[in-house]
Amino acid sequence: MNHPYSWIEDSLKTLHRADWYRRVKTIQGRGGAVIELEGRSLINFASNDYLGLAADERMIAAAIAATQRYGTGSTGSRLLSGHRDLHRDLELAIASFKNSEDAIVFSSGYLANLGTITCLVGQKDLILGDQYNHSSLKNGAKLSGATVKEYRHNSLEDLENQLLAHRHHYRHCLLLTDTVFSMDGDICPLAGILALAEIYNCMVLVDEAHATGVMGENGTGCVEYCGCQGRELIQMGTLSKA
Ligand SMILES: *Cc1c(COP(=O)(O)O)cnc(C)c1O
Repeated sequence: MNHPYSWIEDSLKTLHRADWYRRVKTIQGRGGAVIELEGRSLINFASNDYLGLAADERMIAAAIAATQRYGTGSTGSRLLSGHRDLHRDLELAIASFKNSEDAIVFSSGYLANLGTITCLVGQKDLILGDQYNHSSLKNGAKLSGATVKEYRHNSLEDLENQLLAHRHHYRHCLLLTDTVFSMDGDICPLAGILALAEIYNCMVLVDEAHATGVMGENGTGCVEYCGCQGRELIQMGTLSKA
């Protein structure tokens, strides 16, 4: 008889046969530019810790002080009993760094995209996203219930053609793009995207996960790097990268 979970073993076998099975590697200690991996000292080119802040003594001391004062959890959802002054302080600090009107913090970058996109659009609306967008943007788009279409990677021409063809069928429209793309490291044509957004009355959400802390004179991200500060748009970032 068929067992309801037996397909899992079969799937695993297929993964092994194709040599697609992925394993985690245990890194010893704090990380940084040089790491200890399986007894060897290696230079780490695979990290997102672009500025080395994860092992910064000031950050470690602040984290210890915060857990002593606040404990290791907020003990509730923020709306009910989990809100601390620390949350708002962080949001105001991020808004000031980003030169934006305000900021809201989620538990992770992935959740920030899911939560924000589902707030902005729904069933009557259209999302146009770059084909190479991060999975959190793609899954946020799906979860929102909006009609989702992809445009060719970094192609303003394809984006405009799709806006011409589809925009007028929908109530609101949201354009989604990584600024620094997570797979290839190339950069979206932000000024062009914002220009199209203005013409076709669209909201824009940019994912600055790999740009924040790295791009632009002050390191605030690609919005700064592309000279688009002060424009109307929604920026998402994460504290899990730089
Ligand atoms: C890493 C990443 C995220 C998700 O951030 P987490 O804080 O790791 O959940 C979202 N978008 C992009 C482009 C990313 O590279």
